[in-house]
Amino acid sequence: MSLDIQKIRSDFPVLSQTVYGKPLVYFDNGATTQKPRVVIDKLTKLYTEQYSSIHRGVHFLSEQATEMYENARKTVQTYINAEYSQEIIFTSGATGSINAVAFSFGEKYVKENDEIIVSGMEHHSNIVPWQMLCERKKAKLKVIPLNDTGELIIEEYKKLLNPRTKIVAVNHVSNALGTINPVKEIIEIAHAANVPVLIDGAQAIQHMKVDVKELDCDFYVFSGHKVYGPTGIGVLYGKQKLLYNMPPYQGGGDMVDCVTFEQTTYNELPFKFEAGTSNFVSAIGLGTALDYLNSLNLEKIASYEHEILEYATKKLQKIEGLRIYGNARQKIAILSFLVDNIHPYDMGMILDKMGIAVRTGTHCTQPLMDRFEIEGTIRASIVFYNTFEEIDKLAEGILRAKTMLS
Ligand code: PLP
Repeated sequence: MSLDIQKIRSDFPVLSQTVYGKPLVYFDNGATTQKPRVVIDKLTKLYTEQYSSIHRGVHFLSEQATEMYENARKTVQTYINAEYSQEIIFTSGATGSINAVAFSFGEKYVKENDEIIVSGMEHHSNIVPWQMLCERKKAKLKVIPLNDTGELIIEEYKKLLNPRTKIVAVNHVSNALGTINPVKEIIEIAHAANVPVLIDGAQAIQHMKVDVKELDCDFYVFSGHKVYGPTGIGVLYGKQKLLYNMPPYQGGGDMVDCVTFEQTTYNELPFKFEAGTSNFVSAIGLGTALDYLNSLNLEKIASYEHEILEYATKKLQKIEGLRIYGNARQKIAILSFLVDNIHPYDMGMILDKMGIAVRTGTHCTQPLMDRFEIEGTIRASIVFYNTFEEIDKLAEGILRAKTMLS
């Protein structure tokens, strides 16, 4: 049976509202996804009945919250098929996770003249932490180029790897183009040169089955808020052996074993990397969101989103003067485009007045925009609660805006 989209839409309270008197059409899912009722209800219940700080309490509420937090860790573990639950570190988001690796792994393993490889289609969050590391260590950042359709050039990537390469960090899916990168191949190539790989899965985890064991990635990161969970929570998956040998990057409560003024010893994994009171409420909410996705079936989600992408691409391609950026063979449902010489911001403002929420600008991928010699795009990022009728509304909206602005 296929997905019952109308039923699914009723799971997301925000979707039934109107904006400027028009039914809300929400196509800003790449920035953040809306929350299903089960997640909202779970957060309410946590704050109204079940709230207490985790790990350090001996009383009922604290023990209950601790159990729910650790269960959420196990839910994430199962969701991405990690070998051990201690390989799942809760962070503030994908950005927090990448910074954690850049600081911790970088501190220990990266030295002067070493090299770090990223790709030309990374989000700033997977560029800047590595640049900062390069500055601290006098190391160099190398960039895998991409072709005009928005696919990485693997032959060029192979040429970048050398004995000075310390880590490769690439996204699974591009937030600005929708490209699904061949991460398994990228990882195999790096491993053949003994180089670990971090995969930024911020735009993949909500669209496809991710299996970290199958990928054999060394690190995998994502944010809770883009996968129908709460804000302020993220995941850093790391292979146990790597995490074990990496130093903590933040000090404070929970990450310690024993503290004296002379010396501190650190807690075991995963707590070594979770300094301070963690955002346990959002972690538990993330667990609920992943349970919800499991109940819908990820394969059905991927297949529906693929259908709607094909429909939307054909529909938008018919609009004269509309150019789509990102035409990779393997794509998730993201449409990044420009129309004639219209500024993305102007188009976005007009669509907004029609109740259609899109994102405009560089999408935190300025170097990628430079690669295409553009200032930015209009981005419609589509998920399973979007409908074919909404795509029709988008196309009509673009045509109307084009008439008004041309
Ligand atoms: N990586 C990619 C590919 C993204 O799309 C984003 C957010 O848009 C991030 C990283 C950063 O995510 P967050 O801001 O939730 O840390």
